[in-house]
Order: sequence, then C-alpha cells, then structure tokens
Amino acid sequence: RAKDLGRNSYQMYTPAMNARSFERLTMEASLRHAVTRGEFKLVYQVKVDMDTGRMSGVEALVRWNHPEMGLVSPAVFIPLAEDMGVISDIGEWVLREACKQCKHWHDLGLPPVRIAVNVSALQFRETKVPDVVARALRDTGLPPHFLELELTETVLMQRVDEVVVVLKELRAMGVRISIDDFGTGYSSLSYLKRMPIDALKVDRSFVNDIFDEEDKVTEEGAEIVSTIISLAHNLKLKAIAEGVETPAQAAFLQSKGCDEVQGFLISRPVSGEDLISLFDRDLLPEAQE
Ligand code: C2E
Ligand code: MG
Ligand code: MG
Ligand code: MG
Repeated sequence: RAKDLGRNSYQMYTPAMNARSFERLTMEASLRHAVTRGEFKLVYQVKVDMDTGRMSGVEALVRWNHPEMGLVSPAVFIPLAEDMGVISDIGEWVLREACKQCKHWHDLGLPPVRIAVNVSALQFRETKVPDVVARALRDTGLPPHFLELELTETVLMQRVDEVVVVLKELRAMGVRISIDDFGTGYSSLSYLKRMPIDALKVDRSFVNDIFDEEDKVTEEGAEIVSTIISLAHNLKLKAIAEGVETPAQAAFLQSKGCDEVQGFLISRPVSGEDLISLFDRDLLPEAQE
C-alpha cells in the first residue's frame, strides 16, 4: 500500500502516469491563457460538392501551438477546456477567427464558400450561441448564410425543447446547422425529426468500414453508410461524409447520392493561405471515372 511505503509512496505511480499527470497540469496552467497569448490557430479542410467536384465549403479546425509542447491536438485539449470551464472563450475565438477568414477569402474575389465551425455541447449549453454568432457576423461582416455550425448528437439530447428554440433562432438568422459524427451518439430518431437542421455528417468510422483490408465492400459497413445517407435525404437533409481517404470510398459515396465529401483524399486541413490554391478547381478527378 502507498501508505506503507512512506516517503517513497510516489513510487506507486508509474513514470508514464507521472508524465501524464504532469502533462495535464502543465496544459491546464497554460490553456487558461492560450487565447490571450495568441497560441491558437485555425486550419481549414475542404468540403467538396459531389455534383460539381468543386469546393462547397470548408471546416475550421483549431490547433494549439503550445510554447514547449508544440502542436496539441483538439482531441486532447477540447475535453480539458470543457473540464476547466474555458471552452466557451476558446469557442468564441474560433468562431470570430473563422468568420474573419471566410470574409477575407470572399474579399479576395474567390468563389464564395461556406465556413463550418465546431461548437462543443458544453459551449452550446452555457452560452447564448445566437448572440455570440450575431456579434461575430456583425463584427466581421460575413453574411449569415455563409456560416454553418457543426453540433454533436449530445447537443440534441439535452433539453430538447430549448435546443429546438435556439436552433430555430440560428436558422432564422440564415445560419446552417449540421450534426457532426452522426451515428456515434445516441440521439433518437423521434428527436432528430423535430430538429431544425440542414445536414448529417456521416462519421469517419463508418466511412472507414465501407471496405475491408482487401478493399472489398463489406456488407454491413456499406449498408450503414447507405442507410444514413437515405435517412438524411428522407428527412430532407444533406448528407456529408467525413474521413474519405480513398477513391473507392468517394466513388461509393457518390453512387449512394452523398452530397458532399471531406477527407485526406481531397485535402488535409491546411492554413488559410494554402487553401487559396484549392478554389476553382476540380477536386474529384479520380472519383469521377
Ligand atoms: P471533427 O469535427 O469530426 O473533425 C474531423 C477530424 O477528422 C479532424 O481532426 C480532421 O483533421 C480529421 N480528418 C479529416 N479528414 C480525415 C481523413 O481522411 N482521415 C482521418 N483519419 N482523419 C481525418 P482534428 O482536427 O484533430 O479534430 C478532432 C476533433 O476535435 C474534431 O472532430 C472536433 O470534434 C474537435 N474540434 C476541432 N476543432 C474544434 C473547435 O474549433 N471547436 C470544438 N468545439 N471542437 C473542435
Ligand atoms: Mg466537425
Ligand atoms: Mg466530424
Ligand atoms: Mg468525426
């Protein structure tokens, strides 16, 4: 027992555990100040319209450039930011920065595209999202119909009536709503039907399961993806697939009528600067044979 070891009780902890909790403490201390110190940046991943092969929009993804630890993944620091109660500050910064960047592309005369911003369930619950959105749009001058919010199923499950009101308010402004990582949560179909939303994003784990290791279509994997696309269309929603890595996956999704795709096949997330070269060109050459 730790107590019996007396002064040496720290030996109970493996070096890996120590490193982990040390890392967490280090991160907590600096995450609180990361916004004001300008340590976050956004990268952008293209969404492609399957009918035209052109960019239809981009998703903004946050990156934390920690002075000592280097780039920290949002998968690591977003949950931490939620625990610490700083997610809404980060979320507001992301929203404003994304709107500013999108307006900048428009001002450069590039074909106007939509920008999608991820909103955490906690941020959705603890702030008045329509107010924050309205301020960001007003201050940056981005027209509302160029903004899309990506929410997870968790959002749909909490206090449904209130959520419906907030989503209606956002859509009345002209903002689009999509449900991210669709199929990985536990949202019920009866709730889904009531939600004023625009699109379902098929989670990348399902896209990954369409084909097996020998590149053969798997019966269940393919069926799940087709079913989600049909569900979206039956509810008059768009279907967007994320995590598309191979031409075969893109071709499959296209054959099932998926509206938009996103993934490493088309482009990794890139800087705002690097995105410029992806406007105005056919982004689906392999998939259209
Ligand atoms: P997400 O919103 O589902 O974003 C998609 C994630 O999949 C991104 O990871 C993206 O880089 C990655 N990805 C895109 N295409 C491919 C592909 O073809 N293959 C594979 N294996 N991965 C692909 P990232 O940027 O690390 O973000 C992870 C998650 O962190 C996001 O999942 C989102 O839930 C969250 N996140 C990112 N940025 C924000 C943000 O600004 N606010 C909030 N609240 N959450 C964010
Ligand atoms: Mg997303
Ligand atoms: Mg997603
Ligand atoms: Mg996902």
